[in-house]
Amino acid sequence: MTAMHPVEPARVANFPAQAERYRRQFRLFLKLTFAGMILTGAAVFGPRNWEVWVGVPAIALVFAGLITFFTLPRLRCPDCQKSAEDFDRFCPICGADGLQRYQITAAKCGCCKRTLGYNKTRNYRIHFCTHCGEFLDRQGV
Ligand SMILES: [Zn+2]
Ligand SMILES: [Zn+2]
Repeated sequence: MTAMHPVEPARVANFPAQAERYRRQFRLFLKLTFAGMILTGAAVFGPRNWEVWVGVPAIALVFAGLITFFTLPRLRCPDCQKSAEDFDRFCPICGADGLQRYQITAAKCGCCKRTLGYNKTRNYRIHFCTHCGEFLDRQGV
């Protein structure tokens, strides 16, 4: 006899594990970009014959940094499975109910008075799930 099991939705990893992966990749992005900048500087201001030998690895590093940035893992709430990087009811910083959203990429919290937004990168750290208010991470990510 075969029992019918309802199809379980794929559970996302617990939040600290996701946060750790995210932080590790973000640090890699910073290192690659930083190393790329130094080499770019060396190629531009260094002796003329450095251009190719330093310039090419510099471009490669910056390019690798960009890839690292654009492939950052998406953060999801293990409880409601939705993206923790959106804006919904709850403030991701203090967890208060009633987040005011005024643009697709910006919102304001009446409780902690922070304006949250995206300008290339996120200007705040996620501590709570914006959809269900679940506490996610003490350190924030
Ligand atoms: Zn949630
Ligand atoms: Zn808040």
